[in-house]
Amino acid sequence: MHNDIKEILITEEEIAAKCKELGEQLTKEYEGRFPLAIGVLKGALPFMSDVLRQVQTHLEMDFMDVSSYGGTSMVSSGEVKILKDLNTKVEGRDVLIIEDIIDSGNTLRYLVDLFKYRKANSVKIVTLLDKPSGRTAEIEADLVGFEVPDAFVVGYGLDYDEKYRNLPYIGVLKPEIYGGEE
Ligand code: 5GP
Repeated sequence: MHNDIKEILITEEEIAAKCKELGEQLTKEYEGRFPLAIGVLKGALPFMSDVLRQVQTHLEMDFMDVSSYGGTSMVSSGEVKILKDLNTKVEGRDVLIIEDIIDSGNTLRYLVDLFKYRKANSVKIVTLLDKPSGRTAEIEADLVGFEVPDAFVVGYGLDYDEKYRNLPYIGVLKPEIYGGEE
């Protein structure tokens, strides 16, 4: 698995330090409230687990599964489908969306609009990675861990064809793995 990685962009230690920093910021933001933290499956799972354990105030967790990429595709289709909806009502809640990466922004634009339509009191976004070069939708995260270049990244939740989610770091695949050009 590690042999398929061309370059490590963000190490395990850098991610851990960033989760602590973001956790402190979220603690300040939500102190004395009871936010609903919504993880976007499956990619946000490791980040959600690590960052929320650094938050020192009560919160509730729920999950949504949406898809905008299909199969081995490395390009967003632009169309967002709900694969699993929440079990919790968002009306009146302070919603914190937890994402692995914002690329085109289509997924988060869709989710923010959905939660506003469902009458959330507030909607904020924390994302581990931001790839501004890919943006087509008008959306920015409130908190960003790291900016990444215009490359398809894997690891720490992010997959290629459902693999590499369990890598502890963020890396770039060797082109021969996906049949791409250098
Ligand atoms: P967006 O809707 O912003 O284009 O994409 C959001 C979703 O696309 C992310 O949650 C993630 O699952 C997937 N995605 C976007 N960029 C990458 C990337 O560089 N690598 C991987 N593995 N997935 C990505």
